[in-house]
Amino acid sequence: KAQNIIGLRVLSDNVIWLWKKDKTVVVIDPSIHEPVIKYIDENNLHLKAIFQTHHHSDHIGGTKHLIERWPDVKVIASSKEKKRIPFQNISVADGETFKILGEEVKIIEVLGHTNSHISFFLKGKNPVLFIGDTLFSGGCGRIFEGTFQQMYNSLERIKSLPRNTLIYCAHEYTKANLLWALNLNPKDKDIKNKLLQVEKKLSLNELTIPFLLDEELKINLFLRA
Ligand code: ZN
Ligand code: FE
Repeated sequence: KAQNIIGLRVLSDNVIWLWKKDKTVVVIDPSIHEPVIKYIDENNLHLKAIFQTHHHSDHIGGTKHLIERWPDVKVIASSKEKKRIPFQNISVADGETFKILGEEVKIIEVLGHTNSHISFFLKGKNPVLFIGDTLFSGGCGRIFEGTFQQMYNSLERIKSLPRNTLIYCAHEYTKANLLWALNLNPKDKDIKNKLLQVEKKLSLNELTIPFLLDEELKINLFLRA
């Protein structure tokens, strides 16, 4: 499944994910539109849907232009965010499921970063979670609107998913997170090893995400809390 999901690195550290099947594509959190349109045109694809995890501009900034280009696109967002994500045309709530690109997708609400942040979970043999700004490799999202308890509960929800879940977050923050974690735990071998892997990937100009839940449980201090 991983080869069907492409990451576009944009702005300073955002990653826009494109999930492809045959000639159709779903875009997750398009912060800007130009690279998305370019990729879709170059590969002769059609944009079927946009998943919005939350309302921040570095996640919805490109959506308006994408709707202009593909007027039949489904924009799927939290029903709690009709004001701040006004162009949504499919409104979803925690626990709801729907089918797209032949896969069942489940909405898992993960509060804390905002008051209505949702994630998109693709069940199946190789599960995938589009987690937005709730969890990053080595870290978690900043608590802007929710409470620390809500964020803790959200992380517990993520921890209850299958260990082989591949997690796609929306920012490339891994190295800075690991340096912070290693500073607090200078002798931690798992964090040290992960930092070496991450530095290697970055030196090759590769993304350090997605990441496996099973591996993340060992190195993420927030998941270890
Ligand atoms: Zn955000
Ligand atoms: Fe963000």
